[in-house]
Amino acid sequence: MHVVVSGGGIAGTALALALRTAGIGVTVVESRPADHGEGAVVRLSPNGMDALRAVGAHQPLIARSFPLVRSERIRPDGSRLGYALGADPSCERGLPRVMHWPVLSAVLREQAIDRGAEFRHGHRAVDADVEQPAVTLADGSTVEGDVLVGADGANSLVRGRINPDGPEPERLGTRTVYGYAADPGCEPPPPEVLRSYLGAKAFFAATRDSHSGGCFWFTSLRAPDPRRRDDPQNTDELRAEMSVLFAGEDTIAPTVVGNSDRILSFDDHALPHVPRWHTDRAIIIGDALHVAPPASEQGAAMAVEDGVQLARCLRDHATPAAAFAAFEGLRRDRVEAVVAMGRLGTSRAHHPLARRLRGLRTKAKRLVEWQRKPPMGRGWAYDHHIDWPQTTT
Ligand SMILES: Cc1cc2nc3c(=O)[nH]c(=O)nc-3n(C[C@H](O)[C@H](O)[C@H](O)COP(=O)(O)OP(=O)(O)OC[C@H]3O[C@@H](n4cnc5c(N)ncnc54)[C@H](O)[C@@H]3O)c2cc1C
Repeated sequence: MHVVVSGGGIAGTALALALRTAGIGVTVVESRPADHGEGAVVRLSPNGMDALRAVGAHQPLIARSFPLVRSERIRPDGSRLGYALGADPSCERGLPRVMHWPVLSAVLREQAIDRGAEFRHGHRAVDADVEQPAVTLADGSTVEGDVLVGADGANSLVRGRINPDGPEPERLGTRTVYGYAADPGCEPPPPEVLRSYLGAKAFFAATRDSHSGGCFWFTSLRAPDPRRRDDPQNTDELRAEMSVLFAGEDTIAPTVVGNSDRILSFDDHALPHVPRWHTDRAIIIGDALHVAPPASEQGAAMAVEDGVQLARCLRDHATPAAAFAAFEGLRRDRVEAVVAMGRLGTSRAHHPLARRLRGLRTKAKRLVEWQRKPPMGRGWAYDHHIDWPQTTT
């Protein structure tokens, strides 16, 4: 069997790595060059690390990332409003890992190539045949296989071929801004701590990259008007916008923003339900299948889980159609629940009443419970284990 994958982001690359681990041939077609260097900070949740461990690919990522032990929220006066552990530290899955997005992408790709995957960078698929598996590239050539997998992100071409009447990801009216300052000009929180400074207009969450000493940060804003698709991710413009947003705040935010080398802004979307996941020979995975808002903290982890689980199914079943049915059985409830969790988290973070209620709940919890037991990360989403040798039949 040979699998053609359209899209070499996180899902497509994790799939290629897992397919080669299962001894299946794979060609990945990716529109960006290998060294595009785009992307800012990404968190890979413990369930994503578990999926990488299943295919023996976790150690190189551990070497190039750092663990997130604790998140905390700080009031403008410097007092601590609340905190949560990154995950249960005694759990075998470990803690969430934080890294530059290009590091995650490169670590997966290097291992996939080492195991024999073929990558064709700089080639955009302009058409896809989901019955006779193939993609057509911009130069008119085609790449054919026994199976086609669309791992081509939120605006997936392959999803549109499998579901000609939609759906499309829904805008949530918010956006997430990510930044990185190599020399932040101040002392960021230590790498194990993600600290959110509550500002007058927005929070500013920051931590130090233990590898470079730089500062990763992000914030979330209401954004009623969509950013144009062709908007350049212009760091200078975004730095000016963010400087106004955090002006006058007595936290590290104005200094870090002013010294940031890279700032990216993404409109938040959700794709909660795709009716048709596959034909007999083609399927979609990752953001092409289930766009989870950043509040879920699961986008990258679910992409890795998808890749590893689909490879298991293709390894175990006699036909692609049977493998896809098994994959959907394993995945549908879980991915739809994760997207729902992310949507809820986004509305809680931005609706004024929900914010007020969260503040009250935090205070009550601190009084009653937190003295005895520290709050843990998102247990049910993290608590997912892939047993690679076990069959999916
Ligand atoms: C360049 C980039 C930077 C990112 N940076 C961050 C970040 O800093 N923090 C964060 O939390 N999330 C980031 N994300 C989003 C995050 O990777 C995804 O939400 C999540 O990991 C799901 O991954 P995915 O592989 O399904 O989708 P994506 O990561 O979106 O990958 C899809 C891939 O398909 C390729 N593609 C799309 N259409 C075609 C086509 N027609 N032909 C060929 N290739 C195609 C795209 O170039 C892309 O590489 C980034 C995504 C990208 C593409």
